[in-house]
Amino acid sequence: MKASAFSYARATSVGNALELLAAHGDKAKVLSGGQSLMPAMNLRLIAPELIVDIGELTELRGIAVRGDFLNIGALTRHADLLKSPEIATHAPLLTEAIAHIAHPAIRNRGTIGGSLAHADPASELPACMVALNATIVVRGRSGERRIAAADFFKGIYETALSAQELLTAVELPVARENSAHFFCELARRHGDYAIAGLAAQSIIAGDRFAELRMAFFAVGDRPLLAKAATKLLNVVVTPAVLSGASAALDEELDPQEDQQASASMRRHLAKVLMTRCVSTLLGRPNPNAGGLIDGHRVNFARCERRARRCAGFAAA
Ligand code: FAD
Repeated sequence: MKASAFSYARATSVGNALELLAAHGDKAKVLSGGQSLMPAMNLRLIAPELIVDIGELTELRGIAVRGDFLNIGALTRHADLLKSPEIATHAPLLTEAIAHIAHPAIRNRGTIGGSLAHADPASELPACMVALNATIVVRGRSGERRIAAADFFKGIYETALSAQELLTAVELPVARENSAHFFCELARRHGDYAIAGLAAQSIIAGDRFAELRMAFFAVGDRPLLAKAATKLLNVVVTPAVLSGASAALDEELDPQEDQQASASMRRHLAKVLMTRCVSTLLGRPNPNAGGLIDGHRVNFARCERRARRCAGFAAA
């Protein structure tokens, strides 16, 4: 299929883009990398009257370290993030996550701002932003708004952005000493959208978590910052503690069912990911020896085998 007829404007500055958006309201759409917008238009899921192309606004592109923060312009492409030494040093969670986004052709055009504004609940970057406690910077004609990532995502393809605003940048605290990250997603093939995924950032003190932000994706209508992770803070994580956290996570989850997996399968995978995250971050080779999940004695390898057997998954 082809997109419905539309008008096209190439913005010459952020101010010009904002004027165009203000003049056309929700009949206009911003174009960044076009990797989600164009397929949606070609499938006629959306039919904007005007496309505002911001692709040449170089002031929205780039990565900079400013004191304790990393500033990433909205137009920075996935491929640039993947090869950035600043990102690898100060936000290694992102480097790891981006390798899972689609394939090189899409990463060469897709942008961080586009991914966050699009807010697909199965996307990697929204969950990373929540795990990293990022601030999303948004500009409208009346000025700038700074929104915590955990408050930015409102539902499937829904964010706190209005139709008259541009997402201009994200700001991340740089990784601190003793910080450790975890990223894992389960998908049918590498490069597919996740069936269930987890991005986590932690501070480890000895054998305990001093801080732990676990952001699950593809298991609800937006990235989920798991409150259950607080049960793992400042304690020795015994199988009983892990079991308690897993049960608390179950309460928080509201996964959708689709062609890829049932809701119960996603619940199961989220708990598998939580266990894997804890064992990886605390450096335990066999965390589930004698552990309990869902009241059953399990070991992690068996748990994963079961997840794979259920639907023929491969860890992406
Ligand atoms: P666009 O497509 O240009 O825009 C997306 C939406 O955001 C539009 O509604 C647009 O109006 C709005 N928008 C864009 N920029 C801004 C801005 N600065 N301010 C306000 N609104 C804005 N993504 C994943 O995360 N994981 C995957 O595994 C994955 N697989 C993919 C596989 C395929 C085959 C394809 C085609 C895409 C896939 N993607 C995946 C999507 C890809 O990451 C996109 O690049 C990304 O979601 C959107 O970025 P974009 O720059 O292309 O945005």
